[in-house]
Amino acid sequence: MLVPAAFSLRDPQFIQACYIVAAVCFILGLRGLSHPSTARRGNMIAAVGMAIAVIATLLDRDVVGVPLILLGIAIGTAIGVPAARSVRMTAMPQMVALFNGVGGGAAALIAWTEFRDSIDAGGGFALDTEIAVLFSTVVGAVSFWGSIVAFAKLQELISGQPIMIRGQQVVNGVILAAVLGGCVYLAAAGDEQSVFVAILALASVLGVAMVLPIGGADMPVVISMLNAFTGLAAAAAGFALDNTALIVAGTLVGASGTILTRLMSQAMNRSLGNVLFAGFGSAPEGGGAAAVASGDGSFRSTTADDVAIQLAYARRVVVVPGYGMAVAQAQHAVRDLAAELEKRGVDVNYAIHPVAGRMPGHMNVLLAEADVPYDSLKEMDEINPEFPQTDVSLVIGANDVTNPAAKNSPDSPIYGMPILEVDKSSSVIVLKRSMNPGFAGIDNELYSDAKTAMLFGDAKDSIQKVLGEVQAL
Ligand code: NDP
Repeated sequence: MLVPAAFSLRDPQFIQACYIVAAVCFILGLRGLSHPSTARRGNMIAAVGMAIAVIATLLDRDVVGVPLILLGIAIGTAIGVPAARSVRMTAMPQMVALFNGVGGGAAALIAWTEFRDSIDAGGGFALDTEIAVLFSTVVGAVSFWGSIVAFAKLQELISGQPIMIRGQQVVNGVILAAVLGGCVYLAAAGDEQSVFVAILALASVLGVAMVLPIGGADMPVVISMLNAFTGLAAAAAGFALDNTALIVAGTLVGASGTILTRLMSQAMNRSLGNVLFAGFGSAPEGGGAAAVASGDGSFRSTTADDVAIQLAYARRVVVVPGYGMAVAQAQHAVRDLAAELEKRGVDVNYAIHPVAGRMPGHMNVLLAEADVPYDSLKEMDEINPEFPQTDVSLVIGANDVTNPAAKNSPDSPIYGMPILEVDKSSSVIVLKRSMNPGFAGIDNELYSDAKTAMLFGDAKDSIQKVLGEVQAL
């Protein structure tokens, strides 16, 4: 192969070419993530793209302090790899929230460094660069601190219920105005680092104050919005650093996060503004959850052998998985039960609610891991018209996403959220451990419906017992 005499791996054109290869990898990776069968490969391709981008950046002559960067990479790897390998599947949503936040925090710190460098160099920024630096600072800080609160809610370190003080939205509005005022001041004339630090601090407070009042049921929208924020902050940092790879990667994350936020808002039937400013998702005062939890609600409990008979002699069964299936790690047992029923001629499908579980696509990931055929997974819009022809809906650790209060009770905090309409099937069997509410903290009317029977216990144990009984029939 002919190589030009002056060619060097540190040649800016070679580095730009590497960035283009990296960008193509990111796009192919995202494309791969659009289907479970190609998701693993997509992830690998995107990771290879990121490795190319990092190596190309280290080759850049303008990048100094490489040993320090390598030390940072080594520390990050030493923390990230064991954490990702050992995380339980149920803790994955919190981990994703945390990793997302760290990306936003990094973008804000890069922006701060750029700001300090510009002061040390004695000259200000070009306006477009300064806007990018300030955007990255504010959005990155909001994303970092908002993600920390989301992490704490998902990890149940703090309550999933809305936490807000009286006049919270006014306070948030004042903080936002102060942040914007500071940004305009710096962009117009100033270069005081104290103003910059004040903006960073206020944006951090805003991140916390914005997510604390969001109730459990609305967390999917907030998590995908924070995801989009991190991408946008990274893209802005890319503009500030004049780094093509960061601009492309950040824009892709920002764009896909924005699309996801829209889809999640649609899944909740809420506008983004409503999610952010309505303190939605709280249980009503002295709410029904408490009543049901204390056993005041009427319900009918059943046994594994009864459930086995119902399932084995049904024509159509729809499995409705939720967060409890993830907690119990029941997906393999569920697949075995479905296979046994299908052997007996029962038609088995799975109903997937877009916000079931604790992260977008949570149920798809679990069921794909258990090799459940992708064709059997039906999205909410597809499966809902089929419930009236369904003999048994088998609800496995799903709660909020089946709650008819979303249709029937205008006072309910989840009123208007589309649900899986299991109440339209001929009978409903709910597998859970107690009468405790789900993440939104509200009572589920489904449990007192005459056609519903509760099979109490850990979902995996219950499914295994039911499977044993079906096999014995
Ligand atoms: P829910 O949180 O509404 O309910 C889960 C149910 O699982 C609980 O009622 C619990 O009852 C039961 N459960 C827990 N552990 C077990 C176990 N080992 N065996 C059997 N049952 C168990 O889950 P859904 O999936 O129905 O709804 C998701 C909720 O999370 C929605 O409110 C959604 O808005 C929210 N959310 C979703 C996110 C996403 O991106 N998908 C992100 C953040 C929040 P019990 O304790 O009695 O067993």
